[in-house]
Amino acid sequence: MNMKTAMTIALSLGAPAAVAEPDKSVTVTRAGTHASTVGPASNFTGAVRVDSRFAATAPATVGGGTVTFEPGARTAWHTHPLGQTLIVTAGVGLVQHWDGDVQEIRPGDIAWIPPGVKHWHGATATNGMSHIAISESLDGKSVEWMEHVTDEQYTR
Ligand code: MN
Repeated sequence: MNMKTAMTIALSLGAPAAVAEPDKSVTVTRAGTHASTVGPASNFTGAVRVDSRFAATAPATVGGGTVTFEPGARTAWHTHPLGQTLIVTAGVGLVQHWDGDVQEIRPGDIAWIPPGVKHWHGATATNGMSHIAISESLDGKSVEWMEHVTDEQYTR
Protein backbone atom coordinates (compact mmCIF):
# COMPACT_ATOMS: atom_id res chain seq x y z
CA MET A 1 0.00 0.00 0.00
CA ASN A 2 1.11 3.55 -0.51
CA MET A 3 1.94 5.97 2.30
CA LYS A 4 -1.39 7.76 2.13
CA THR A 5 -3.36 4.52 2.52
CA ALA A 6 -1.18 3.40 5.42
CA MET A 7 -1.74 6.72 7.20
CA THR A 8 -5.48 6.52 6.67
CA ILE A 9 -5.59 3.04 8.17
CA ALA A 10 -3.45 4.14 11.13
CA LEU A 11 -5.69 7.14 11.78
CA SER A 12 -8.87 5.09 11.58
CA LEU A 13 -7.50 2.60 14.08
CA GLY A 14 -6.81 5.45 16.46
CA ALA A 15 -4.19 5.55 19.15
CA PRO A 16 -3.21 2.29 20.81
CA ALA A 17 -5.16 1.52 23.97
CA ALA A 18 -3.74 3.53 26.85
CA VAL A 19 -1.63 1.39 29.13
CA ALA A 20 -1.29 2.79 32.64
CA GLU A 21 2.38 3.54 33.02
CA PRO A 22 3.42 4.13 36.62
CA ASP A 23 4.75 7.64 37.13
CA LYS A 24 8.49 7.19 37.56
CA SER A 25 9.24 10.78 38.45
CA VAL A 26 10.01 11.90 41.97
CA THR A 27 7.56 14.37 43.47
CA VAL A 28 8.93 16.94 45.88
CA THR A 29 6.29 18.86 47.78
CA ARG A 30 7.97 22.07 48.91
CA ALA A 31 7.73 23.29 52.48
CA GLY A 32 4.93 25.79 52.76
CA THR A 33 2.85 24.25 49.99
CA HIS A 34 0.08 23.46 52.47
CA ALA A 35 -0.82 25.84 55.29
CA SER A 36 -0.63 24.58 58.86
CA THR A 37 -3.93 23.27 60.17
CA VAL A 38 -5.35 23.03 63.68
CA GLY A 39 -6.15 19.68 65.28
CA PRO A 40 -9.94 19.84 65.75
CA ALA A 41 -11.39 19.95 69.28
CA SER A 42 -13.49 16.91 68.41
CA ASN A 43 -10.37 14.75 68.20
CA PHE A 44 -7.84 16.60 70.39
CA THR A 45 -7.52 18.33 73.75
CA GLY A 46 -5.50 21.55 73.85
CA ALA A 47 -3.54 23.29 71.13
CA VAL A 48 -2.46 20.96 68.32
CA ARG A 49 -1.00 21.95 64.95
CA VAL A 50 -0.59 19.72 61.92
CA ASP A 51 2.06 20.47 59.27
CA SER A 52 3.45 18.76 56.20
CA ARG A 53 0.55 16.44 55.62
CA PHE A 54 1.37 13.78 53.04
CA ALA A 55 -0.42 10.99 51.24
CA ALA A 56 1.09 8.53 48.78
CA THR A 57 -0.63 7.83 45.47
CA ALA A 58 -2.49 4.55 44.92
CA PRO A 59 -1.91 1.68 45.24
CA ALA A 60 0.23 2.90 48.16
CA THR A 61 -1.91 3.94 51.12
CA VAL A 62 0.66 5.46 53.46
CA GLY A 63 0.11 8.96 54.75
CA GLY A 64 0.58 11.22 57.73
CA GLY A 65 2.02 14.50 58.85
CA THR A 66 3.95 16.32 61.53
CA VAL A 67 1.88 16.97 64.65
CA THR A 68 2.87 19.51 67.29
CA PHE A 69 1.27 19.47 70.75
CA GLU A 70 1.54 22.37 73.20
CA PRO A 71 2.04 21.39 76.87
CA GLY A 72 -1.03 19.48 78.09
CA ALA A 73 -2.31 18.83 74.56
CA ARG A 74 -3.07 15.30 73.39
CA THR A 75 -5.14 13.25 70.99
CA ALA A 76 -8.45 11.67 71.95
CA TRP A 77 -8.44 7.89 72.38
CA HIS A 78 -8.33 6.28 68.93
CA THR A 79 -7.28 3.28 66.87
CA HIS A 80 -5.58 2.80 63.49
CA PRO A 81 -6.81 -0.10 61.29
CA LEU A 82 -3.28 -0.89 60.07
CA GLY A 83 -1.32 0.58 62.97
CA GLN A 84 0.76 3.74 63.24
CA THR A 85 4.39 4.76 63.58
CA LEU A 86 5.31 7.88 65.55
CA ILE A 87 8.79 9.41 65.21
CA VAL A 88 9.42 12.04 67.85
CA THR A 89 11.25 15.07 66.48
CA ALA A 90 11.13 17.59 69.35
CA GLY A 91 10.19 18.07 72.98
CA VAL A 92 8.94 15.51 75.47
CA GLY A 93 5.78 13.51 74.90
CA LEU A 94 3.59 10.74 76.21
CA VAL A 95 1.94 7.70 74.65
CA GLN A 96 -0.35 5.14 76.25
CA HIS A 97 -2.44 2.19 75.11
CA TRP A 98 -5.66 1.26 76.91
CA ASP A 99 -4.84 -0.42 80.25
CA GLY A 100 -1.13 0.20 79.63
CA ASP A 101 1.42 2.40 81.34
CA VAL A 102 2.02 5.95 80.13
CA GLN A 103 5.38 5.98 78.34
CA GLU A 104 7.53 9.07 77.91
CA ILE A 105 8.84 9.61 74.38
CA ARG A 106 11.68 11.89 73.29
CA PRO A 107 13.33 13.01 70.03
CA GLY A 108 14.63 10.02 68.10
CA ASP A 109 12.24 7.61 69.82
CA ILE A 110 9.97 5.61 67.51
CA ALA A 111 6.64 4.31 68.80
CA TRP A 112 4.71 1.58 66.95
CA ILE A 113 1.00 1.27 67.69
CA PRO A 114 -0.30 -2.10 66.43
CA PRO A 115 -3.50 -2.31 64.34
CA GLY A 116 -6.71 -1.79 66.30
CA VAL A 117 -5.01 -0.89 69.59
CA LYS A 118 -6.82 1.89 71.49
CA HIS A 119 -4.31 4.58 72.49
CA TRP A 120 -3.50 8.29 72.74
CA HIS A 121 -0.38 10.42 72.30
CA GLY A 122 0.55 13.97 73.12
CA ALA A 123 2.73 16.39 75.04
CA THR A 124 3.59 16.23 78.71
CA ALA A 125 1.88 18.68 81.04
CA THR A 126 4.98 20.88 81.07
CA ASN A 127 6.62 20.43 77.66
CA GLY A 128 5.46 20.55 74.08
CA MET A 129 6.15 17.68 71.68
CA SER A 130 6.32 17.18 67.91
CA HIS A 131 6.19 13.86 66.11
CA ILE A 132 5.89 12.64 62.56
CA ALA A 133 2.87 10.33 62.37
CA ILE A 134 2.74 7.66 59.65
CA SER A 135 -0.08 5.22 58.98
CA GLU A 136 -1.61 3.20 56.16
CA SER A 137 -5.27 3.38 55.19
CA LEU A 138 -7.67 0.44 55.00
CA ASP A 139 -10.71 1.07 52.81
CA GLY A 140 -9.76 4.76 52.76
CA LYS A 141 -9.64 5.09 56.55
CA SER A 142 -6.52 5.47 58.70
CA VAL A 143 -8.01 6.37 62.09
CA GLU A 144 -11.08 5.67 64.22
CA TRP A 145 -11.67 8.45 66.77
CA MET A 146 -13.13 7.75 70.20
CA GLU A 147 -13.70 9.64 73.48
CA HIS A 148 -11.38 12.33 74.81
CA VAL A 149 -8.60 11.55 77.28
CA THR A 150 -9.87 13.01 80.55
CA ASP A 151 -7.64 15.13 82.80
CA GLU A 152 -7.79 12.28 85.33
CA GLN A 153 -6.55 9.76 82.75
CA TYR A 154 -3.91 12.21 81.52
CA THR A 155 -2.43 13.06 84.92
CA ARG A 156 -2.66 9.55 86.36
MN1 MN B 1 -2.40 7.31 66.94
